[in-house]
Amino acid sequence: MTLIDYSGKIACTVFTVGCNFRCPFCHNPELVDQARFNVGGIIEEKVFFDFLKSRQDLLGGVCVTGGEPTLHSELPDFLKQIKNLGFSVKLDTNGTAPEKLEILIKDGLVDYIAMDIKNCFTDIYEKTVGVKIDLEKIKKSVKIIMASGLEYEFRTTVVPGLHTEADILDIALEICGAKKYYLQQFRSGGKILNQEYRSLKPYPAEFLRELREKIKGSFEICEVRE
Ligand code: SF4
Repeated sequence: MTLIDYSGKIACTVFTVGCNFRCPFCHNPELVDQARFNVGGIIEEKVFFDFLKSRQDLLGGVCVTGGEPTLHSELPDFLKQIKNLGFSVKLDTNGTAPEKLEILIKDGLVDYIAMDIKNCFTDIYEKTVGVKIDLEKIKKSVKIIMASGLEYEFRTTVVPGLHTEADILDIALEICGAKKYYLQQFRSGGKILNQEYRSLKPYPAEFLRELREKIKGSFEICEVRE
């Protein structure tokens, strides 16, 4: 159960396995690289839906996160089953599949979309996500989400060595006019995809707050998640 993952709702979160990014600062490495990290027990779909049925009076929403949920061809059917039980759906995505997002939106299978903007739209994006990417797809996802009429948010985890102040200012220009944008504090320690990031010192909280002051005029809501 989560009170914070789905703004305004009591929700539960389901994690999907597999991701097409390799963000070095990723805190869900077991969902990304199963060769190096043990993903543990995969929950059968029936167990998940039995759980949801037993919580229909208690929960309002389901957060579907990853990994990257849109990698799974079964996602539309999975979301349909959740919606049929009366839950709202929040989908987390890295924005690499705009065509799939478009269909999910058109078919009414998502109520809230949270998309990571990993960095400004330059070569630094690939360094930040650890793989080659098609930036045009990321930009297209931003446009689709902003025009969707749904509740949505964009967010960036701000990591020393990957993000400068100039990068965050550039992001603010690129997604200017968005409803909600969150600057998220990087956390070192714990399970992390690239072990070198375990000992990386996060930016001071004050730095993120000052960034927010500089960009908040571009959004309806702009906050720091510490
Ligand atoms: S942080 Fe990056 S690597 Fe980890 S799940 Fe999200 S998109 Fe994938």
